[in-house]
Amino acid sequence: MKNQKTLELLEEAGNSILFTASRPEIVMEKGEGMYLWDTDGRKYLDFIGGWAVNCLGHCPDVISEALKKQSSELINASPSFYNKPMVEFARLLTDISCFDKVFFTSTGAEANESAIKLARKYGSKMLNGAFEIITTVGSFHGRTLATMSATGKKHWEPLFAPKVPGFIHVPFNDTEAVSNAINPNTCAVMLEPIQGEGGVNTADAGYIKELRSLCDEKGILLIFDEVQTGLGRIGKMFAYEEYGIEPDIMTLAKGIGGGFPLAAMLTKKKYDIFDAGDQGGTYTGQPLAMAVGIAVVHEIIKQKLPERVQMMGDYLIERLKELSAEYPILNIRGKGLLIAFDLPEPAGRDIVSGCLESGLIINSPQSSVIRFMPPLIVTKWEIDKMLEILMKVLKTHFKQ
Ligand code: PLP
Repeated sequence: MKNQKTLELLEEAGNSILFTASRPEIVMEKGEGMYLWDTDGRKYLDFIGGWAVNCLGHCPDVISEALKKQSSELINASPSFYNKPMVEFARLLTDISCFDKVFFTSTGAEANESAIKLARKYGSKMLNGAFEIITTVGSFHGRTLATMSATGKKHWEPLFAPKVPGFIHVPFNDTEAVSNAINPNTCAVMLEPIQGEGGVNTADAGYIKELRSLCDEKGILLIFDEVQTGLGRIGKMFAYEEYGIEPDIMTLAKGIGGGFPLAAMLTKKKYDIFDAGDQGGTYTGQPLAMAVGIAVVHEIIKQKLPERVQMMGDYLIERLKELSAEYPILNIRGKGLLIAFDLPEPAGRDIVSGCLESGLIINSPQSSVIRFMPPLIVTKWEIDKMLEILMKVLKTHFKQ
């Protein structure tokens, strides 16, 4: 039964919010740790974590305190000036990664736009105007026009024509396909080391090593979209560490702000080739976002979250394997706390809504796939609790 306040909010949402997504009849009001509460006071165990975003859980003190402190010192100085937290955060990111230079944005799509522009700039300066970027089938790079064009989703192909030209989609985990697609117009290869929205598809170690060699041989750039995999999500600070290679460009978003709109593109010193005005934005290096980013990254390091994520991810996979003897759980896969399994039929939407009714938030990025991307602070107790609810929902659905 919904209370009066909820009914009014839902009616107002229908009246005033532009439709872009089917949302359940719930209005979220409060978050703490692994939990969200709606305006009817219902509590939800959150295994989406703000879409792989709230790495420290909901409303962690370190973020609230960073915002409070920074908002009393400087909220915005304009993008035409450096500011203190911007310099400090760029230094922190370059210290913990293989990169030397950072450009800040607010969203993953903008970070990827920046990477696309940098690769095209490189092509125009160094490769006789080469502009094509090879991306993979099943990839997701964002919802701006260029990042939708880069994305390898079949059903997006006819949307918003004409698309931005210059993106060639090849099958994932297929070096030969990349090799065959490279031509004098190619300036870069761009991929997610683990395709998140595509259903948690992990790049093979050999494939990534071969891509690195291929890009070196052809003199083109290797771009890692680590919007979903970066900042501890897969049990390493960055996914490229898992593969023992260094990309030329990496993009980060989601976890980097712990829920605050923040993203970044990182690259090596030799690719510091934009001219003034080529790239920018009112909110690049926004002080509040920078202060949050610093607090989040320090906390990830302090709590040794990548190691913890590895342990919790192994535990979740182990438990799923045990349960697969009794429940319809197929093809368990993923790394760290980016884990998925297949259902025997396209029942993802029903399972997600069954779980929601039972107070659990999970996700189905493809119709037969169930995905977990909880906050990185999740405990074994919460994993067990989540599995208890999910197994009940699976049992009820597959008995029908
Ligand atoms: N790249 C990847 C791998 C993503 O998973 C996403 C979002 O889900 C994006 C880019 C786009 O990020 P944003 O929604 O912050 O623009």
